[in-house]
Amino acid sequence: MQLGLSINPCTLCPRMCGVDRTRERGYCGAAAEAAVASVTIHTGEEPPLAGNGGIVNIFFAHCNLHCIFCQNYQISGTSPASPLTLPSADIHRLTQDIIPLLAQSNGLLGFVTAAHYAHLIPQLLDELHAQGVHPTVVYNSSGYERVETLQALEGLVDIYLPDLKYLDRDLAARYSHAADYPEVATAALLEMKRQVGSSLKTDDNGVAYRGLIVRHLVLPGHLQNTLDCLDWLADNFFAPTLHVALMSQYYPPRRNLPSPIDRTLSADEYAIAAQRYQELGFDGWLQAPDANSNYRPDFADSDKPFK
Ligand code: SF4
Repeated sequence: MQLGLSINPCTLCPRMCGVDRTRERGYCGAAAEAAVASVTIHTGEEPPLAGNGGIVNIFFAHCNLHCIFCQNYQISGTSPASPLTLPSADIHRLTQDIIPLLAQSNGLLGFVTAAHYAHLIPQLLDELHAQGVHPTVVYNSSGYERVETLQALEGLVDIYLPDLKYLDRDLAARYSHAADYPEVATAALLEMKRQVGSSLKTDDNGVAYRGLIVRHLVLPGHLQNTLDCLDWLADNFFAPTLHVALMSQYYPPRRNLPSPIDRTLSADEYAIAAQRYQELGFDGWLQAPDANSNYRPDFADSDKPFK
């Protein structure tokens, strides 16, 4: 086990459960071995990640955050109906799934919301390297990460792709059971910047090979949180060097969510967020205001959850 990536006791993420993951499960619900919901080529990411054939994404089951509006609720463990009976993924077997897909893609390998499986990343990359495969590694993150865990991944991750969900402790507590999300995520993003810089480097084909992209999902009825997140990013990452994806795709993934997140975003709300984004001068991407109808993954079809 790599230094700083302990699962016995498990201190991988800010929950700091301290359980022995070889015998029991903590808040995230994950065992020691990975449960993988899908390994697939994904062309729906930002253009420098999805271009030239798409990125190979590994979608893991379970999550250390459990947002009540999780759009991947089928695999994250957020919903009582989650089909979390996925078998454990043997690392060698996983690399055999990954390698042919990498040959058909743009050579990027994405670990999607993998904080609770960070201990397996060095092992999986060692196995790929031993077989002569050296993908560009993308670490796709909720932002709820321990700095110490990120430090243990230094040199392995080429591109960080974190969310900045909230700078409002009440929202973070209400929707993600993590009142400390603002201070945790801002520290994590600054550590990511320290490791890979705040700009995004791309090759001659426009495919990213190093850097940082930050995503922010605009939540209905919580515009001030969005404006605060954008302002913080501009103050700490020196727009316009930072690439930010401002996402309008929110939809209530299940019934009985509390108001105001029981509806999609209005065009007016997104327009205000987009205006602040443009005033601050970020590089990056704005989604179409009606994107909520296009991004509804279905992990019941593990080969093509985004078809
Ligand atoms: S990764 Fe899971 S078990 Fe480990 S500290 Fe985080 S929530 Fe707890």
